[in-house]
Amino acid sequence: MEKMTVIVPCFNEEEALPIYFKEMCRVMGKMKDVETELLFVDDGSRDKTLAIMRDLHAMDVRCRYISFSRNFGKEAAIYAGLQNAGGDYVAIMDVDLQDPPSLLPKMYRILKEEGYDSVATKRSTRTGEPKIRSFLSESFYKFINKISKTEIVNGARDYRLMKRKMVDAVLDMSEYNRFSKGIFEWVGFRTKWLEFENAERSAGETKWSLWKLFSYSIEGITGFSVVPLSLASVMGVLFCLLSFLMIGVIIARTLLFGDPVAGWPSLVCIIFMVSGVQLLCTGIVGQYLSKTYLETKKRPIYILKDSSEDERSISNAKQRIWSESGLDQSA
Ligand code: UDP
Ligand code: MG
Repeated sequence: MEKMTVIVPCFNEEEALPIYFKEMCRVMGKMKDVETELLFVDDGSRDKTLAIMRDLHAMDVRCRYISFSRNFGKEAAIYAGLQNAGGDYVAIMDVDLQDPPSLLPKMYRILKEEGYDSVATKRSTRTGEPKIRSFLSESFYKFINKISKTEIVNGARDYRLMKRKMVDAVLDMSEYNRFSKGIFEWVGFRTKWLEFENAERSAGETKWSLWKLFSYSIEGITGFSVVPLSLASVMGVLFCLLSFLMIGVIIARTLLFGDPVAGWPSLVCIIFMVSGVQLLCTGIVGQYLSKTYLETKKRPIYILKDSSEDERSISNAKQRIWSESGLDQSA
């Protein structure tokens, strides 16, 4: 039978995790033609998330987990999940039920029957989200799609189901600065998009502050476009043209009306503006440089501390020692 792995990144999700598991049991019960396993990724949670994962693993063989040594972020959790997923089909799903598990059977059927390589999802509405956040997100998508050749779909979720060959392609992109929404598009393949209505979180709170979202958007821009870099040259040319024009005007004015000493306030304004533009351009270059810097260090994307495989091998080893020593474990 074919296998499916569902990757579930979790960061401080002790409240949402049990609810999620219950819901997934219902969905997995419906998918009889594929063997489904849940791969929980504990992204350095500081609450009881890992303990719950251990319990789930002990309770149900379909549950596996891996645990990070600290919080590495959702992107790292996705990458670790993909690396450790053994299925012919691999899904990525949030634990807070904002990605409806009930869609999974339909996604699987589409891959089986319609010849797509991946089924992705996006939300049709942004209800339940603060207005300012929606506005900023919309602007971000407009901006990045203007300057990037890779299409970044507005409202796209990370929730998707992929065939093995696409997973392998994504794994080949082992960059340190990860922006999944771009990576999944960049690798190509045939993708079908499903839409669903935005739902409220089942429990717990969102882990994304405005600031985190902002740095994530910088990640997207620097990762998938180099247009901001050329912005510096464009602005340089514009300012040169402008200055030639101003020189002409001033020469003409001096010849016609003489040269009274005036105009220092405008001079100060111009100096401020031009140096502002220069700093902005240096800043843009700095952003790209910092990403390159981190990329050249080749640091690991995540570090594992613990996993269900470790647990199993330890308990196997214990059993072996017991049986080799000729003692019964209960003795
Ligand atoms: N998440 C994670 N590491 C992080 C932040 C979030 O693994 O550093 C997980 C989180 O547990 C959840 C998913 O990513 O399963 C989406 O997070 P959240 O619901 O907070 O984001 P939102 O839905 O508000 O965009
Ligand atoms: Mg969420």
